[in-house]
Amino acid sequence: QFLSGKKDLKVAVIGLGYVGSCIAATLADRGLDVVGVDANPKLIDELSDRYCRFAEHGLAELLFAGMDAGRLRVTTDTAEVTAADVVLITVGTPVREDGSLADEQLQSACLELSTRIRKGQLLVLKSTVPPGTTRGTVLPLLQRSGLVGGRDFGLAFTPERLAEGTALAELNSFPIVAGGLDADSAADAAEFWRSAIGVEVIPLDSLEAAEIVKLADNWWIDLNIALGNELAKFSALFGVDVLDVISAANSIPKGKGMVNILLPSVGVGGSCLTKDPWMAWYSARERGLEILTAPAGRQVNAGMPEYTAQLAIDELTKQGKDPATSTIAVLGLAFKNNTGDLRATPTKDAVAALARACGEVRIHDPLVEVAEAEAMFGLPVTESVEDAVRGADCVAILALHRDFADLDFAALPVADDCLVLDGRAYYSREKIAELRALGYGYRGIGR
Ligand code: NAD
Repeated sequence: QFLSGKKDLKVAVIGLGYVGSCIAATLADRGLDVVGVDANPKLIDELSDRYCRFAEHGLAELLFAGMDAGRLRVTTDTAEVTAADVVLITVGTPVREDGSLADEQLQSACLELSTRIRKGQLLVLKSTVPPGTTRGTVLPLLQRSGLVGGRDFGLAFTPERLAEGTALAELNSFPIVAGGLDADSAADAAEFWRSAIGVEVIPLDSLEAAEIVKLADNWWIDLNIALGNELAKFSALFGVDVLDVISAANSIPKGKGMVNILLPSVGVGGSCLTKDPWMAWYSARERGLEILTAPAGRQVNAGMPEYTAQLAIDELTKQGKDPATSTIAVLGLAFKNNTGDLRATPTKDAVAALARACGEVRIHDPLVEVAEAEAMFGLPVTESVEDAVRGADCVAILALHRDFADLDFAALPVADDCLVLDGRAYYSREKIAELRALGYGYRGIGR
């Protein structure tokens, strides 16, 4: 084995984006000696100045505690990789328009690593990739070093399965799936994660099996949200609250082979669920298999921002208000609850649809980068909830961050008969009754 029972492991994390930062901070917190390398000097400068651009609950504190304690160093220089025992690769793996992997970051990282790696190291890819990429792209690039994978260095694929908004808790609890180039690589990777974080490790027979598991995770989530969304639209036709349907349908235990139905929402965004189903679809298609479910899920979820905006427009009209002179306050712009990530956020299309039909749209989100949001939405980001909702005819909650969970609706300076548009299936029956008692209208997706 490559690590052969070594203690006090040194770890290098290549790519300090959302995922790499969470992993580096967690490993440093567990007492490991970690160096984080990123090709973006601005990101490294920010971290060195104790600024974290990722609004993940607890991440900044954990990163800076590790840095202050000297257990985590951040740099643009890959030279320190040579001293590491374990090298984790967490660079971005977007897809192109046609669904194929845009592997520029992966290529550049592996090429750079090929000049830095040494005998006895374990290299672990964590970025999401189409099956065959670790063996077909990563391995040959690393072997440009003159070292041979499986003989001189270990190579494993252990996909990252965290979700933004709950990333640190999930990193510390979700089982790790491990596939290796050979048995020693797989065993080393399993041992590394078990000893570093103490989570369950599920060993798989091959790199490709582990690569497919990661795609299965996100393919399933996207498709399942699409089911929740279509059930919502369907239930609405019959005046039925979709949450009643979903919780009753989910009452059959998972053990019977049933899957949980996820909640409807304004849509699906972020850098994973919007691309990973296409990654699976494309790599199937390249081999002559036409996958039908992945594009279906994508199509349903891509239609939700418009559908959600239309709910508000229809409801205002029903209330006798003219949408064209109504003011809409949008709370939450990020692609999901409790993150500041705006990548592929469904709120963009929802806000655009509202802006086309309504008099004024104001936007607010305490977690996003203001300049990035203003450029993306073409609107100023208001400083507070109060500024956003003043005189509003509709409060559209599109990402339900912690700050919005306990809004004091009685105190909000909104217009009479203000409509609450619940874009995240958040409010309970009791809460909706309370809102109505305060004079608010309520509309949810399928509710
Ligand atoms: P990201 O774009 O936030 O981060 C990627 C980082 O890699 C960037 O900071 C970039 O500067 C850096 N980088 C690019 N090329 C480099 C190189 N040659 N050397 C060093 N650094 C380099 O991406 P992310 O959201 O952190 O995702 C990373 C991977 O994890 C992707 O494969 C993604 O699909 C997967 N993933 C993401 C999530 C998520 O919620 N964001 C969850 C699970 C898995």
